[in-house]
Amino acid sequence: MNTTTTPMLEADEKFDCPGNYRTPTPSTLRCSKCNRPLAVKDAQRTPTGYVCPYYVKARVATFYTAGPKQYILAVLIAFVLGIGIGFVLQLVGRIGFFALILTIFIGPAAGGLVAEAIRRVNGKERGQYIWLFAAIAMGVGAAYFTVLPVLFALLAGSPGFIFALIPVAGLALAVTTLVARLRF
Ligand SMILES: [Zn+2]
Repeated sequence: MNTTTTPMLEADEKFDCPGNYRTPTPSTLRCSKCNRPLAVKDAQRTPTGYVCPYYVKARVATFYTAGPKQYILAVLIAFVLGIGIGFVLQLVGRIGFFALILTIFIGPAAGGLVAEAIRRVNGKERGQYIWLFAAIAMGVGAAYFTVLPVLFALLAGSPGFIFALIPVAGLALAVTTLVARLRF
């Protein structure tokens, strides 16, 4: 059997992908790391060639090292800071015309603050879904001061609900920033 590879693949660092990937259909394509035959539909493109799904999984496992402790810390930080952020957004939302302009600055800053706090506490430990847990925790923490007033205003049929939406917009900006900072 001819198993020659291209010079580019030979130059690659060899890696025995765990999981013993087997192609469901015969294929001439090979994983550039473990050299197992690789189905086109399973091939994952990397800068050094196509690799089997197990290579990606192995790399993800070594990249994301956070355990339950890091998740719990992230949730606690995001929840507690979220309460404060909700409170500030509600206060700012009351000042009238400039509320919207201030909120556009405060929202992303608040999300960045929470992301930075989580990074400081968790250090080098990274978690694949910490961004999701933190975003939910911050949203829940801030909901009392931001989302609930809108619901009450709506239920009461008050036209003021339009203004109550400003803190919600601030929270949305904070969540967007938090996710972007933690995820990438
Ligand atoms: Zn492989």
